[in-house]
Amino acid sequence: MKMAPWILGLFWLINTGLETPHSFVDGLESTWTHDYTKYHPMEEIYRWMKDVEQKNPNLVSSVVYGLTYEKRNITLLKLGLQKQEGREKKVIWMDCGIHAREWIAPAFCQWFIKEIVHSYKNNKKLEQMLQNLDIYVTPVINVDGYIFSWANDSTRLWRKSRSPPPPGSSCYGVDLNRNFNANWGTVGVSFDSCANNYCGKTPGSEPEAKAVMGFVGQMVNKTLCYLTIHSAGQLILLPYGHPEISAPNYNELVSVGEAAAKEMKKVHGMNYTVGTSPQILYPNSGSSRDWARLIGIPFSYTFELRDKGEFSHLLPEEQIQPTCEEAYAGAVSIITYVHDKTFNSGGLPNAAITNVTVWSTIVAVSLSTVVAT
Ligand SMILES: [Zn+2]
Repeated sequence: MKMAPWILGLFWLINTGLETPHSFVDGLESTWTHDYTKYHPMEEIYRWMKDVEQKNPNLVSSVVYGLTYEKRNITLLKLGLQKQEGREKKVIWMDCGIHAREWIAPAFCQWFIKEIVHSYKNNKKLEQMLQNLDIYVTPVINVDGYIFSWANDSTRLWRKSRSPPPPGSSCYGVDLNRNFNANWGTVGVSFDSCANNYCGKTPGSEPEAKAVMGFVGQMVNKTLCYLTIHSAGQLILLPYGHPEISAPNYNELVSVGEAAAKEMKKVHGMNYTVGTSPQILYPNSGSSRDWARLIGIPFSYTFELRDKGEFSHLLPEEQIQPTCEEAYAGAVSIITYVHDKTFNSGGLPNAAITNVTVWSTIVAVSLSTVVAT
């Protein structure tokens, strides 16, 4: 049944608690009027998410899977069509905005969702993929930090979360991308709470990291791919951040990453470099990308979007569109590969994923032995 716009509007009004007529109109229209070439404050992103969900009930649903330290919702949009008879759906994960100041990342998650919502009906391949896959997209994980980065010029380059200082310190926040349970605290981190790469008290000590680990962890057996979006540097990073360990499917991770970089270059001619973090950036530990691979998700990548240092985290708004266009091409390239590998060639056996899990566990254990000594 197709509902008249005024009925949808009434539901929206009831759900959002009797806003002013002005917000009513904004909320109702924002799927189409939302400007994807601007950076948006968190309240607009929340409102947009609600609107996308309400306008596309066959494709989009939302899940609140955690609360930030300051008790704000961590919300994702799930994109997926009804599954085909007799097939289990697989999962693709994408998140943006784990580092507060990297505003191009949330802008990309919004762009990615918009592209899929607007194109799947006229794109048979995409439609087929959405029947086989559920794509979970979190536009902003570090909501508290993102809001803080919008507060004023002096907080614009805030990176971490906003959890309070440990005893004896006056410095807020943890680097959430050093807080995951992946060789935590071993390399490329600081235990000084004032440092920008402070890894927190323990693995998963932060509610934001814990929420992702809990939510993704319970669907690991059906998750094919984990994409986490950052800036800047124009890199496609693959596991691992620790220089002494290597993913069992390293060669395939490289070739799939390079195929994505090639697609990205076709769009606006920009070069994206592919490799592990120690190879092309710096060693690190406790990243969500490494955690995803260690628990057995076969394909895990970090995108570092534009640019290569000219503007860095202050990327001008006129670069949002070209950056998102090339990143979309890269993401679709990877998602298509993992989809086709699973569904068009007899399927990626679950046993393969299970074997990887066992292997990864052994590596994790032996590494912690090395570090302990
Ligand atoms: Zn980052």
